[in-house]
Amino acid sequence: MNMKKLLLVLLALTLVFAVAACATDGTTDPDADVQQEEEGTAEEGTVEEGTVEEGATEDETAGNAANGDGNDAVLTMATNATFPPFEYYEEGAIVGIDAEVAAAIAEKLGMELEIMDMEFGAIVAAVQSGKTDMGMAGMTVTEDRLENVNFSITYATGIQVIIVPEGSPITSIDDLFAEGAEYLVGVQQDTTGDVICTEDFGDDRVMRYNKGTDAVLALTTGRVDCVIIDNEPAKAFVAANEGLSILETEYAVEDYAICVAKENTELLEQIDTALTELIEDGTVQTIIDKYIVAE
Ligand code: GLN
Repeated sequence: MNMKKLLLVLLALTLVFAVAACATDGTTDPDADVQQEEEGTAEEGTVEEGTVEEGATEDETAGNAANGDGNDAVLTMATNATFPPFEYYEEGAIVGIDAEVAAAIAEKLGMELEIMDMEFGAIVAAVQSGKTDMGMAGMTVTEDRLENVNFSITYATGIQVIIVPEGSPITSIDDLFAEGAEYLVGVQQDTTGDVICTEDFGDDRVMRYNKGTDAVLALTTGRVDCVIIDNEPAKAFVAANEGLSILETEYAVEDYAICVAKENTELLEQIDTALTELIEDGTVQTIIDKYIVAE
């Protein structure tokens, strides 16, 4: 009798461990040390019908993963919410074009969107490792990133522009390339602005900041001569700071898309289908128009 009980308990324990092992194979890793991965700076949020609650717990994430039939009811999105109007905080919630387009995609997929805020440079690795289902952060499709993740169809265009203080001797991109030019360029770390500027002007002339706003602060306090960043955040930063302007020159024109892990082809197809429908029925444009008022 006792032996039978003991065997039952052992069997139950084995099952618990088996289930835990399955859960860690899923797209969400309940054992993951979120703080460490997010380098202690990130905040997490959950989006439900356009609003974000901060601080979704690891337990919630684990609970969702436990749905475990490969068809989790939660779609996790990694972003860096310092990039208006694509993703930024408003009254403690992550809002913006990406947050809304992602919520619309999740709705089409019958899933609930959960947004994970992290350093921009951590997003590709988070997607690649399966810590999050997708990355959406005004992210440009690049050859380098394509080596590690796949990208959806494009949903927006980004242009690298140059922000200067009024009266700056820099009047076009040519001034930065001029022989003997020593102008310092501020960028957001790990972005295409960072990559292109480092290639074009060399490490010594590129000052990297965690956020675009920090690069702009360096500009307003004279620590860099210009900031090179995507045009829409550039407009937001210039509007928020007096004495700055954006040069006419377009330094680089880029495509924004959603990144998904290479092996997750099923999700990529679902996202592409949803995104195509949302583009064709005008939903994406309506969301963009809500955040970007035409000049
Ligand atoms: N589009 C740029 C990139 O992909 C910047 C994105 C961002 O800072 N969120 O690198």
